[in-house]
This record gives sequence, C-alpha cells and structure tokens, in this order.
Amino acid sequence: MNRPPHTPPALSVVIPLFHEGGHLRDVLKTICAALDALDAPYELVLVDDGSDDDTWSVVEETAAGRNDTRGIRLSRNFGKEAALCAGLEAARGQAVLVMDGDLQHPPSLIAEMWKLWKAGGVDVVEAVKVDRGREPLVNRLGSRLFYGFLSRFSGYDLDNSTDFKLMDRKVVEAWLRLGERNLFFRGMNAWLGFVRVQVPFEVAKRAAGASHWSLLRLVRLAITGVTAFSTTPLHIVTFTGGLFLLAALGLGLQTLFNKLAGRAVDGFTTVILLQLIIGSLLMISLGVIGTYIAKIYREVKGRPRFIVREQVGMEAESDETA
Ligand code: UDP
Ligand code: MG
Repeated sequence: MNRPPHTPPALSVVIPLFHEGGHLRDVLKTICAALDALDAPYELVLVDDGSDDDTWSVVEETAAGRNDTRGIRLSRNFGKEAALCAGLEAARGQAVLVMDGDLQHPPSLIAEMWKLWKAGGVDVVEAVKVDRGREPLVNRLGSRLFYGFLSRFSGYDLDNSTDFKLMDRKVVEAWLRLGERNLFFRGMNAWLGFVRVQVPFEVAKRAAGASHWSLLRLVRLAITGVTAFSTTPLHIVTFTGGLFLLAALGLGLQTLFNKLAGRAVDGFTTVILLQLIIGSLLMISLGVIGTYIAKIYREVKGRPRFIVREQVGMEAESDETA
C-alpha cells in the first residue's frame, strides 16, 4: 500500500468529490480494500470540486495517513468534468481509473477491469450500465432522448456509457491533449478511439446524500455534448430554411395565380399564422446559432478549465521538479 514516494504507481485512481464528506471515509475504505487486493502499487487522486462540507478535511486526513494519496482542492465548484480533468492531470499511474465517490461505481469491478488491462492489448476498459439503477423517470427519459440525439448526430453510441473507466497512460495523455474548455469526458474519451472493451455492471444505490445533477445541469451537459460533437443542428437550420423556401415558392405561385384570376384569398388569418410560424422558426434558428457562438466565445477566452486552491500529498512531485 505505502511505497517510496518517487516511483510512479502502476495505477492511479481519480475520484471527483462534491459534498461527499459524510460518507467519504467509508467509501474510501471500501475502494482501498478492492485496490489492495490487486497487489499493485496504486495512488489515490482525490479532487474536491469546491465542496462546502467537510470533504476537504477528510481528504487531508486521508492524505496525512497514507503516502499514496494526493488531494486537490479546486477554488470553487467547477463541475464533475473539470474535476476529472484536474485529477487526470495529476495522475501519474501507468493506468488511470476514474470512478465516482459515492460507490455507485462498484469497487468490486476494479479487479476485473485491472485484469483486462493488465493482460495487454486493451487501452480502455469501460464499465457500462446494464440497468440505470434507481434513477427517476425524468432522468431516464432525458438520458434516452439525449443519447438518442447524440448518437444520431455524432455517430458515437454513448447510451449506457459511464465515467467509470480504466485508461492506459497513452489514452490519458491523448485525452489531456484535447484542448477544449467545454468538457464532456465520456464523449471526448469515445472520440479518441483506441482498443476498448466493455464490462457490464449494475448501478448501485448512492452511498448517501443526493445526486448533484439537477435537471438544468443535465440539460447543460447535454447541450455541451451535442454541440461539442456535432454541427448537425446548424445544418438542420439550413435544411428547414430550404424546405420553407420550397413551400414559399409553391404558395407564392398559387397566391399569384389566384390573384390574377381574381380570386384573392381572404388572407388575414393566413398572414398571422405565417408570421407566427416563421417568427418562431427564426428565433429557434438564431438560438441554435447562438448556442454555438456561446461555445466558441467560451473557447476563445482561453480561461483555464479549473483553478486549484490547494493541494496535499504532492510532496513527491514538488521534490522531483525542485
Ligand atoms: N461531482 C463533482 N462535481 C459536481 C458534481 C458531482 O465532482 O459538481 C462528483 C460527485 O462527488 C460524484 C460524481 O461526481 O463523485 C458523480 O456525481 P453524482 O453522484 O452527483 O452524479 P450521478 O451519480 O447522479 O450521475
Ligand atoms: Mg452518483
């Protein structure tokens, strides 16, 4: 378990944490028990994503008690994707495992994932859900809709995929080279390619506390996911415009014909309806374009993806760079 601080570990385990203080000690105990059974040197990279509870003090306490734990505290809540990014940057292992800090990603699966990677020939071992667990109906419907939309538009089948993944070092390096600010770990990971195997698992119940994903946050992630992977919505705007042009030509000719034939239609209702339909269509199209512009705006500002407030257990690295 405890090894000299300078040797890079075989495995890094990255866990993003947001308000997990209450059950974190037990969660880490369970995860470490599974890791100890691997009989390989590992490190824990715990990222506190700006929690207001005692998450950070538990991380500090853990790091003080073991020399294989690094804690990173972000300056505020940047969201899970950014926290994962911070963890991946700090991880030094030959393989990096990413998992949640609420035991919804069962530690009992780690041994199997590790074995698959260790056997060689596989770069990413990804755990996929066979059952969406006890998710509320809205979430289930929402994710169906989102993944259906995403896989149609982007060509990546991400349905049932999770952030529970074991990645080879070269995959982590490749992921870190993707420079975007609009982070979507799962999708970006799928984009990388490499040799993948899937391991099915049933989503466990949350250790304690509540999920931090509000509907609004999920919708935002969905928009990031779609806009980061596909420009199809923009083409749909053009396509719809084309359809309306065709309809306009037909309707225009007919109206003109009627007018010339002295049968001008009584047009007030038609005009109002057309105004309303075209008006909303224009607004939606502008919104779609605006969404992409907002993403571009965020990217060109070039702000860092996260800010680190403090770190613990990083002595090994600072010694090396000194
Ligand atoms: N998480 C995070 N930052 C956030 C929200 C969540 O680091 O802003 C972490 C959280 O602590 C957990 C993981 O991401 O380890 C998954 O979060 P959660 O359980 O809330 O999501 P769900 O399981 O419902 O997808
Ligand atoms: Mg969870």
